[in-house]
Amino acid sequence: MKAKIYRGTKEIGGTCVELTAENGKILWVDLGAPLDDKNPDIGYANKKVDALLISHPHQDHFGLMEKVGVDVPIYIGELAYDFINTTKLFIGLPLLKGNHKKNKPWQTFTIAGTFKIESFLTDHSTPESFSFIIEADGKRVFYSGDFRATGRKKIVFDKIIEAPPKDIDLLLIEGTMVERANHIYLTEESVEEGIYNVIKKQKNISFVISSAQNIDRLVSIIRACKKSGKKVVIDVYTSWLLDMLHKQSGNVPTMEWEEIRVFDHPGQMERITEKSFDEFRARIQTNRIGPDIFKKPSDFIYFVRNPNMKLVDKLRKYGKINIIYSQWEGYLKEDHKQYFTDNINALKVDKDIVYHSIHTSGHATIPDLMKFAKAINSNKIIPIHTAFPEKFKQEFEKNGFSNVNLWEDGIDYLI
Ligand SMILES: [Zn+2]
Ligand SMILES: [Zn+2]
Repeated sequence: MKAKIYRGTKEIGGTCVELTAENGKILWVDLGAPLDDKNPDIGYANKKVDALLISHPHQDHFGLMEKVGVDVPIYIGELAYDFINTTKLFIGLPLLKGNHKKNKPWQTFTIAGTFKIESFLTDHSTPESFSFIIEADGKRVFYSGDFRATGRKKIVFDKIIEAPPKDIDLLLIEGTMVERANHIYLTEESVEEGIYNVIKKQKNISFVISSAQNIDRLVSIIRACKKSGKKVVIDVYTSWLLDMLHKQSGNVPTMEWEEIRVFDHPGQMERITEKSFDEFRARIQTNRIGPDIFKKPSDFIYFVRNPNMKLVDKLRKYGKINIIYSQWEGYLKEDHKQYFTDNINALKVDKDIVYHSIHTSGHATIPDLMKFAKAINSNKIIPIHTAFPEKFKQEFEKNGFSNVNLWEDGIDYLI
């Protein structure tokens, strides 16, 4: 078997790994969109392959997946599929079309009669994210995907450390955090505690800024609300994501939970006018926040990506408003500018706002990466999904690893 990384040996974003078996069958693992415009060439994504395997529903892993066309089988998690379609639904884009083979964590299956796959659930900032063992021609590749050991699913990290898979020839391991410091908040529990400490004494509303798909974070907010007697207001999009998650597991929040209210954003309600959403719309009406927010704003937390300035202005008179920024700081800089960047930066210096940064990363720290790599005990370790491969290698070598190799994008390596 041969392996090639199209992008990712020196960048975070646009992850795509190609595995070619001796019989000529080609499997891609992830086909992400680049996260910046430094290297806009995505010509490789038009190549003909036998199948595509997606690790999780983050843009940098699935963003170009529709480029393989509607015939090529795309192996994707059930929840990942539903989350991607939820985003499409609320943006107003056509839903996914194609040959999707949906799977669940811990399954084993064979792709193109050649690649034997074992999927592992990882602890990451989206509820369903996979690592894979891909086996062909007697060789075994472990693809870590994105993971951490500090979230609400830490147990799945511990599980691999305690009983690691055997006989791994090649480990492709993410290295996001090599040059990023984690925050003063090291775990999801400490984020929960940090949010609780802010909201328990709030005199007005708090906005928590994070990705709706980061359900771990929403759970942290819900738990902080429970302890402080507050309620979290989510939007229609987030409510639908929770319903999708609920299909997979009963033990997850829904809009009916005591600590949750829904803001029935008119633009979002317009996306769900079809008959199939009748019951969902009725539930939104039952659980909507309505004008209650103005009775006692200090009872509420808004979970949003971008606070609505009209709402902020209406609430100013009640006292200082908290903005709890709870995602990667990089989004506030010019390099990784998002639609909300200017608004949040303006709020940061607003006289009526108290700004807090309370976040922990979805990615493993260097010590956790090493713990993981040590357990997997592969012949070779290749860093991927990192902007600093040399630093990755140095850090690992300082700690006794002598098997870290640095690859180049677009080159075939024999495993
Ligand atoms: Zn990710
Ligand atoms: Zn990623």
